[in-house]
Amino acid sequence: MSDNGEADQVYNNSHRAFLQSFLSRATLTFEQARPIVAAIEKAQAQDGRDIRPADITEQHVSTYIDVTNAAISPFDLEIRDTLSQHDRTRIYALVNVSSDSITQLATTHSPDVIAFVKRCLDAMFETNNTHRSEVLAVKSTDALRLAKAPPNQTQDPEASQGAQSQSLTMMQAQKTLQAMVDEGWFEVSKKDFYTLTPRALMELRGWLVETYNDEEDERIKNCSACKAIITMGERCPDLDCSGRLHQHCKRMAFRAQNNNERCPVCKKDWEDAPPVGEKAAIQNRRSTNGTGASGRPYTTAQTDGADDSLDDSTADED
Ligand SMILES: [Zn+2]
Ligand SMILES: [Zn+2]
Repeated sequence: MSDNGEADQVYNNSHRAFLQSFLSRATLTFEQARPIVAAIEKAQAQDGRDIRPADITEQHVSTYIDVTNAAISPFDLEIRDTLSQHDRTRIYALVNVSSDSITQLATTHSPDVIAFVKRCLDAMFETNNTHRSEVLAVKSTDALRLAKAPPNQTQDPEASQGAQSQSLTMMQAQKTLQAMVDEGWFEVSKKDFYTLTPRALMELRGWLVETYNDEEDERIKNCSACKAIITMGERCPDLDCSGRLHQHCKRMAFRAQNNNERCPVCKKDWEDAPPVGEKAAIQNRRSTNGTGASGRPYTTAQTDGADDSLDDSTADED
C-alpha cells in the first residue's frame, strides 16, 4: 500500500519475519540482511512490485530494527549492530541485554561447562591481557588445559552457587569450544586462537565491563575511534595510555586529526604502535628471551598502512 514509510512504523508481520531471521542465526551482516528484508518487503507489497536486495539500504534495515527493538525490549532483547574488527562490515545481532546475560548460556549448558567457558574468558581478559601484552585471545591448546577445574578455588561469595565445579574431560572441553563457535560466541583464527565474536562482544559488553574492569584496572578497553570494545588492533606506544585503535579505524581517526598519525588520546606519535590481539602473543614470546619490556621491543612484522591480515607474521622463529 504505502511506500515503505508510515506502514512500517507499527510492529507487524514483516517485523516478525525480520525477527525470525535473527532467531535462526547468531548474526547477520548488512549484505545478508538485504535479501531477507527485500523478500519480506516483496511479500508484504500488495501491488506486486519487485523489490530487489540492492534496493535495501542501511537506513532501511535500521528502520526495521528500531520498530522491532521497541517491540522486544520488554523481553530484555535488543538487535544491536557493530563493525567487524576484521573489515569494518556492519554486523547485526539479536542480543540478550539483561545484566547477567552470560547466565543464558546456563539454559543450554551444564554448570561445569559454563565454569569452563568462564575460565576461557578469564584467560582471554585476565591472564592474556596484561599491561605489557594485550592478547585478548586464548590459544586452543591453552584453552584445553583449562578443562581441569582449579583445585580449591577460593569461592567468590557472590558467584558461589554452592558446589564447586568439576573438571571436564579433554573431549568435553573440545566439544564445548566447538559449541561456542557454532553458537556464535567464539571465533577461532588460523593460528588457533579463540576470541569473542562481534555478537559476543555486543551481548556480553555489560557483563565483561562489570567482571573485568575495576577502579584501578580497566581491562576491557574501547577503540578510541569507534568506541566499541577492542580485542584486535593497535595500542598507543605509551603503555600507560588508554589509546587504542582498530586497524580499520586508524585511517578515519588520523584523518580527523589532519592526517597527524598521533594517538587520539595523548597525541604521542603512533609509529611502532604495539599490536592488540594474537600478534601480541607472538611478540611476547620473542621479548621474553631478549631484552625486557622497556625500550623498543615492538618489531613484529608490521607492515605500514593497510594491514588487515592477522597471518602475515611468522611465529616461533626463535
Ligand atoms: Zn574502532
Ligand atoms: Zn596515547
